[in-house]
Amino acid sequence: MTTETPAPRHETDVTSGPGAVGAAVAAAREAQPWWAGIGFAGRKKALDAWRVLILRRADELVDVIRAETGKTADDARLEVILVADHLRWAAAHAGKVLGRRRVPSGLLMFNQSATVEYRPLGVVGVIGPWNYPAFIPIGPVSAALAAGNTVVLKPSELTPAVGQWLADTLAEAVDGPRVLRVVTGSGETGAALCRAAVDKISFTGSSATGRRVMAACAENLTPVVIEGGGKDAMIVAADADLDAAADAAVWAAMSNAGQTCVGLERVYVVSEVADRFLRLVGDRAAALRTGDRPDADLGPIVLPRQLEIIKAHVRDAVARGARVVLGGTESFTPPYVAPIVLADVPEDSVALTEETFGPVLVVNRVTCVDEAVDQVNASAYGLGASVYTGDRSQGRRIAGRLRAGMVSVNAVIAFAGIPALPFGGVGDSGFGRVHGPDGLREFTRTQAVTSQRFRPLMQPNSFGRAPGTMQTLVRMMRALYGR
Ligand code: NAD
Repeated sequence: MTTETPAPRHETDVTSGPGAVGAAVAAAREAQPWWAGIGFAGRKKALDAWRVLILRRADELVDVIRAETGKTADDARLEVILVADHLRWAAAHAGKVLGRRRVPSGLLMFNQSATVEYRPLGVVGVIGPWNYPAFIPIGPVSAALAAGNTVVLKPSELTPAVGQWLADTLAEAVDGPRVLRVVTGSGETGAALCRAAVDKISFTGSSATGRRVMAACAENLTPVVIEGGGKDAMIVAADADLDAAADAAVWAAMSNAGQTCVGLERVYVVSEVADRFLRLVGDRAAALRTGDRPDADLGPIVLPRQLEIIKAHVRDAVARGARVVLGGTESFTPPYVAPIVLADVPEDSVALTEETFGPVLVVNRVTCVDEAVDQVNASAYGLGASVYTGDRSQGRRIAGRLRAGMVSVNAVIAFAGIPALPFGGVGDSGFGRVHGPDGLREFTRTQAVTSQRFRPLMQPNSFGRAPGTMQTLVRMMRALYGR
């Protein structure tokens, strides 16, 4: 597509290593005034054109994702669907959410007109993980771009081609300088981006790396969004539709081979239905196909060192008395891990306190929903959660008691597919939000402006005010708000 204001094109985008960060940030900074200048309408047109191109070449993106992660075609397709929907939403809503709006000026300042608007920060650095290499970065990238920022993306070292594909298709869809630049490389390159005096960093990855990112950003007082790891849990109440709950639990735990930040790792099921629920989960998980086969449900574990972490969690749980419902250490045929279901796992074992990030589901029984709520909230993480119950209003009440950034009632991970909903966690899962209006505002600076409409009858903000002005105002306040 063609945007109204032609601007010089910068073609040197294939960069790598910490040494490339400075030039990428400088080029992004040079392009930013033009991008901000085309306004919400111009950016919507550009981002819509990008979305159309992505969908036209969806099969190609699926191939690039699969080449770098090995995930199944359907898992890769899910990413493309979510990319398109989130991109559409950010482009369509940025103007409404961020544009200038009037707010009431109040009785005291009645003579003023008051407005608030959300201006772009400048250049936003986005550091991404490998598990959803297209979907995860598109959250902050689409919001930052829609708000008028330019972006430097540092994709995971395991998935540089996906990041580059995204930047290249945007450059193809939009005439003008590149507004999304990619620097490839390992953690060192990410650290260099944190220190490059960008205007904000959006980091998604493990909580341990998040701490390092924050420390590096502190040097320049660069604000940061941390989307860290998770240990998501499901509560199954006695009146729940157990078939639906088991089906959802198996998908949430095993899709993408369990390598999902909001993947399900723990279930707390009320005792009276626990045996039936476990049978349903075990049967469904046992039917899944794992490995290098075209009909596979579970692809490989992408990060080789993760295999050892998954195995250590399973071993520890079993050594401490967990009951093996499905699989076990024999489920490992690197780089693949077939579904593993464990029951009655001690709450202080690493399989319940740390992120496993593999196809392992722990199902523990509880005496009542209150106990389940306590167990869910005992985790240091607080990303997503789900509740299954026959009573939706009870589901909402339980959701309100959970220490989690996002909760689905009678569904799993549904919040991630709703672009209007903010996405993010609490505790070790991080802070700040991507997606939705909060996600758009995250990449802006708020500006409040007042404009005097007429001279006030009383002028408190002047040394030349009439004697008794302040006493009159205090009397007025007492009369209005003092009882
Ligand atoms: P990771 O922390 O190893 O790496 C994430 C990114 O940070 C990579 O691009 C990496 O190169 C970069 N990095 C590493 N060291 C750095 C440093 N010192 N400074 C700056 N950048 C640095 O995570 P990963 O293995 O790529 O991803 C898996 C993790 O991501 C899991 O913990 C998962 O739960 C989490 N995750 C969270 C979300 C979320 O939205 N909360 C989404 C997806 C994944």
